[in-house]
Amino acid sequence: MKVAIDPGHGMGNAEAGVFDPGATRKTGGETFAEADIVLRYGLTLKKVFEDRGVEVFMTRTSSADSAPVGRRATRAATAGCTHFISLHLNSDGGTQANGLEVEFRDDTKDKPLADKVQRKLLAVTGFKDHGNDKRTNLAVLKFKPGPAVLIELGFITNDGDRNFLLKGENRDAICKAIFDVVTGSV
Ligand SMILES: [Zn+2]
Repeated sequence: MKVAIDPGHGMGNAEAGVFDPGATRKTGGETFAEADIVLRYGLTLKKVFEDRGVEVFMTRTSSADSAPVGRRATRAATAGCTHFISLHLNSDGGTQANGLEVEFRDDTKDKPLADKVQRKLLAVTGFKDHGNDKRTNLAVLKFKPGPAVLIELGFITNDGDRNFLLKGENRDAICKAIFDVVTGSV
């Protein structure tokens, strides 16, 4: 097993040399960016896997790493990955929409893992079930060697979701839960 961890957005995501912050939310004099928050999740998740002896490939490890969205899945496949986990935050024009969503592409290859991740993370976060979505148009889900899922951890635009996700102890619990599901320990 070798797990690709893909913190969404970042440098060169859509356009070479241009930083893509993903969804942002400005509140209380602070601007929160999806790219920064999911990078923290990605680095924590990397540590959780590696501390337990599972090899990891990161599509990016900083805000400066160039990670074109169209090349992430193929880079992970070339690196020998067997699983692909993409981390994102959802957003909405308003501040009320909230909840957790897991996206997948293939009913056979991806959906079983998407279902398990969804169930486990709903239990850990207490978030609203925002559903499992089949998405055939997302480049990162075109990862071929094994299951690929894109986790929308919560809504950056919702204060409850965002504040929960920003807490270090919740990040640790979520990353441990993802590890448990991906490695089949639950
Ligand atoms: Zn995103």
